[in-house]
Amino acid sequence: DAMLRLEDIRKSYNVGLPSQTEVLHGIDVTLQRGEFVALIGPSGSGKSTLLNIIGLLDRATSGRLFINGKETSSLPEHEITRLRGHSIGFVFQYHLLISAFTALENVMMPMWSDRRFASADMETRARELLGEVGLAAVAGNKANNMSGGQQQRVAVARALAMKPDLVLADEPTGNLDTASADDVFALLRRENTRHGTTFLLVTHNLDLARRCDRIIKVVDGRISP
Ligand code: ADP
Ligand code: ADP
Repeated sequence: DAMLRLEDIRKSYNVGLPSQTEVLHGIDVTLQRGEFVALIGPSGSGKSTLLNIIGLLDRATSGRLFINGKETSSLPEHEITRLRGHSIGFVFQYHLLISAFTALENVMMPMWSDRRFASADMETRARELLGEVGLAAVAGNKANNMSGGQQQRVAVARALAMKPDLVLADEPTGNLDTASADDVFALLRRENTRHGTTFLLVTHNLDLARRCDRIIKVVDGRISP
């Protein structure tokens, strides 16, 4: 069945009591396993809010969110944390690497707190992932000595470290030049093909959006047909 299913998801923010503003007005979305989907829409339309809900970083005000068929809205916080750690990888516009750590250490970091990985395996896996993103030769370089494109590749490797079923990428190429953006996009696509990982990619770059399997457009908190 579906990797991800949203049913009538609504989100309101408190904007100074007692005022509430609804910014998502009933979102229905299904992503099949292995799909590579672009999420587009004007600034302020609710893309980040939606991504945060899908990524279990924030909760919807109402509606149902299924991940791998499992309904999440009634799960306790510790199960949400576990599901997020095991199932979802994140890539942000600003890669949020630890700048004083090496590329290798940054990629190993998510594995440190997971008993699935023995310490010897962590380094092996991190080196493999850096190989996949074309950075095997600079694994020992500090993140702050790498180019923007290289840092974003490290961030992609880090997002894949836990073997997520779903990767959420919020403007992953937003602050890269065209050539680096194309490289990072190609890399995400390759990971999608190689491992069947599902991707949801927020982008303002329509050229990249058209190269996805499908485009979902959000306008004013609603899916636009
Ligand atoms: P997008 O990612 O498409 O630019 P957002 O999800 O960031 O859109 O924002 C959608 C709407 O929700 C905007 O009107 C924004 O001002 C509002 N919003 C976002 N985050 C908050 C918040 N924490 N508190 C109140 N309003 C918010
Ligand atoms: P298998 O799939 O053969 O059981 P693994 O799950 O360890 O074995 O995957 C084989 C290789 O593929 C690993 O070395 C790892 O680098 C890579 N890999 C597996 N799953 C993912 C994933 N979701 N994202 C990125 N790389 C992955």
